[in-house]
Amino acid sequence: MISKKLFSSKLLSWHRSENYRILPWKKETDPYKIWLSEILLQQTRAAQVIPYYLNFIGNYPTIFHLAKANDEEVFRLWQGLGYYNRCKNMLLTARLICTHYNGQFPSNHEEILALKGVGKYTAAAIASFAFGLHFAVVDGNVTRVLARYFGITESISSALGKKNFADLAQSLLPKNSADYNQAIMDFGAEICTPVAPKCTYCPFQADCVAHQTGTINLLPVKEKNKVRKTRYFHFVILKNEEGNLWLQERTSKDIWPHLFVPYLLETNKTLTPSELSKSINPSKRKTLNLQFIGSEKQLLTHQQIISHFFRLNFKNQLTLPPEGVWVKKENLRNYPFPKTIISFFEKSLYF
Ligand code: SF4
Repeated sequence: MISKKLFSSKLLSWHRSENYRILPWKKETDPYKIWLSEILLQQTRAAQVIPYYLNFIGNYPTIFHLAKANDEEVFRLWQGLGYYNRCKNMLLTARLICTHYNGQFPSNHEEILALKGVGKYTAAAIASFAFGLHFAVVDGNVTRVLARYFGITESISSALGKKNFADLAQSLLPKNSADYNQAIMDFGAEICTPVAPKCTYCPFQADCVAHQTGTINLLPVKEKNKVRKTRYFHFVILKNEEGNLWLQERTSKDIWPHLFVPYLLETNKTLTPSELSKSINPSKRKTLNLQFIGSEKQLLTHQQIISHFFRLNFKNQLTLPPEGVWVKKENLRNYPFPKTIISFFEKSLYF
C-alpha cells in the first residue's frame, strides 16, 4: 500500500489529467451557488440535479432573489426532486443569510454547519469549495474508495465506523482541499463505482487492497447496527432426593446443539415464579414451589438470551421428557454446557 501522501498526490494527478466529469457547479467559487448545488445533490444523483440547478440559478441568480421568492413558486421549481423538507430549509436559510448575514454567506465551518439543512458533508463541501477551508468531504463515493483501497472492513454505518472514515479522510487531505475533495468524489462516481468499478483504468490498481484480495464486491461493509432478537429462557434446576440434577441435551436446529441444559421453558417475556408454574404445569392446581435464584444475559450474533434460573426440589410434580438424564453434582463438569449455564453454575457453586 502506498503512503497517504502518495495516495493524495496520485488522486490529484488523475484529477488533473484524466477526470473528464463535467458538472455545471464544478470550479464554482460563489458560495451561494455551491450551497444551492449541494442542497439539490442531497439524496439525488448529479445527472438528475443538473436541470434543476440551472433552472434555480436562472430564476434566482443571487441569494437575495431566492430569499425574496414566493414559497409556492420555489416549491414548484423543486417539484420532482422529493424530500420537500430540503426545499423548506433552503428557503429558511436563504432568508436567514439575507437578514442575519446581510446576504454574505458565512465563511467559517461552524457557522456553515449551523445552517438549517446543512449536515457535515454539505458543510465540508461548502467550506472547502467556496472558502478553501481544510475540511474533507465524506460521502458514499469517498467511503467506497477508501474502504476498497485501504481494505477497511469496518462498517460505514456504525458510529465508530463513521468516525474512523471521517478521520482517515481528513488525514489524507492535502493543502488543496477543494481540488482533492472534488477529485475523490469524481473518482468514486466515475472509476471506483459501486458496481463494476473500472479497475483497469485505475491508477491505484497495483496497491488497492480490495483489488489484490478479490474483495471489491464486499467493500464497503454497510452492515447496520445489529438489531438482536431477545429470547427469554426460564431454566428450572431440578434436584431429586439423591441430590442429582436433571439435564437435557439440545438436539434441535436452534442455538446450542448438543449442549446440555437444565429443564427449559422459552417465552416471549420474563415470567414470575407463579406464571412459570402455570406455564409448565397447567393441569395441576397446586403451584410449584419455584425459587428464583438468578439471571444471566448472553449476546449472540443475532439474538440476546435472557436466562432466568429457578430451583425446584423434584418430587414428580412435572412430566419430564424421556431423553433427560439425572447427573450427580460432582459429574456436572463432564457435560458440555452453553456459556450462560457455565456462568450460572460457577456463580451458584454448582461447579
Ligand atoms: S483498483 Fe478498482 S476497487 Fe481498487 S480503488 Fe481502483 S477502481 Fe476501486
